[in-house]
Amino acid sequence: MATVTFLGAAQEVTGSCHLVEAEGLGRVLLDCGMHQGGNSVERIRNESFEFEPASIDAVILSHAHLDHSGLLPRLVAEGFGGPVYCTRATADLLPVMLYDSFGLYERDLERYNLKRRRRGEEAWDPAYTKADVAELLQRCEGVPYRQTKRLQGHASVRFLDAGHILGSAITELTVTEDGRKKTLVYSGDLGKRNTVLMNDPETLTTADLVLMESTYGNRNHRDYGDTISQLRDILKDTWNANGNVMIPSFAVGRAQEIIYHLGRLYHDGELDPWQVYLDSPMAIEVTNVYDRWLRQLDKDDVKELDAVGRSSLESFLPTLNLSLTTEQSIAINGIDKGAIIIAGSGMCTGGRIKHHFKQRIWQQRNTIIFIGFQAYGTLGRRIVNGEKDIRMFGEDYIVRANVETLGGFSAHAGQSGLIEWAGNFNAGTPFGLVHGEADSMKALKQKLDQKQIDATIPAKNEQLVF
Ligand code: ZN
Repeated sequence: MATVTFLGAAQEVTGSCHLVEAEGLGRVLLDCGMHQGGNSVERIRNESFEFEPASIDAVILSHAHLDHSGLLPRLVAEGFGGPVYCTRATADLLPVMLYDSFGLYERDLERYNLKRRRRGEEAWDPAYTKADVAELLQRCEGVPYRQTKRLQGHASVRFLDAGHILGSAITELTVTEDGRKKTLVYSGDLGKRNTVLMNDPETLTTADLVLMESTYGNRNHRDYGDTISQLRDILKDTWNANGNVMIPSFAVGRAQEIIYHLGRLYHDGELDPWQVYLDSPMAIEVTNVYDRWLRQLDKDDVKELDAVGRSSLESFLPTLNLSLTTEQSIAINGIDKGAIIIAGSGMCTGGRIKHHFKQRIWQQRNTIIFIGFQAYGTLGRRIVNGEKDIRMFGEDYIVRANVETLGGFSAHAGQSGLIEWAGNFNAGTPFGLVHGEADSMKALKQKLDQKQIDATIPAKNEQLVF
């Protein structure tokens, strides 16, 4: 009997982890993600595996985002000794993600332990080390898209393009039980159709069980074309006001998408002579990885680079400046007008963007453009909600800059995209919904019901048979 047990991202959007067990295959994890939000030390301390890590035979990783990959080094630290299968681009992105995540954790832990020692308490040992990250990375095996990788016990895995971020995959896992083939399809995070750089999510028709994400199960995104023209108009207005633009951005996907759009405006002659600053060492590294895999991205978009003789995202936008060092970042403060600053963190909870806010948020001529989701409780959310008095670095600031939110950028399919993708499967294919808040899942289930698609909403630790 082949089963899948939902250990994370069950009626929640983070901590993706599902355990597949089948005859011959053994015990295989689909993703091993970290929960997000809050203090990294408390968070990692609170994470616990509900299985013996040494008993896991292999991990199949859908993509490099930390809510899908973040606990892999800890899995190694606690005894996992098997391989990790993912796409080749994911294997290339993973070191950037995991070393960055480890760096933050190490810094937080050091600070935390200093406080503990001052109180006379014992310091906490790290849950995993840099050596665990290195070992994990050695265990990663990149598999090209659409190539069948044989696993033990006549099982096999195939990755299809999920169109979510570089390297993201829909996983098709086939096992053989009693001489009969059974197929589990796991959507991973599904991208939106017709966005730049990413391909549309590939479609499948046959499965014995489909695990589908449902992040936006209850709503659709704003129109993409409208979003792009809104971006152009905001830039024009801010330029005319002699202002600067600050864009809080995630390092993976969104930053590259914005650079692409700015590049396109530049070549269309629609971009004023802005100087653009990518002020995030991580986003710079990730952009390099995107450039290495450019030929795997959307062909039509890459053609636009070719048409103007550019072979990388970085060179597509000639006015792009990369700020790697702290000194380079501080130097941006000296620019009076005409700077577009793209910096992390995406929700303004830390990173260099707050330093730019400090310089410019209180001036009316500047603009902040939010291009990503701002979670409740973050500084970004408070600014989006229109709060005018904010506190940063122990001081009060007034928000006088224009605050704009562009709703059409998203790396996830909206409700109709999910329903469309699900509709490609043969009639009667059962679905299990994962990676969504309960409300979102219920709304999606209702819509799927109307299309005679049978979907269940598994609770944590629940098991489905396929
Ligand atoms: Zn993701």
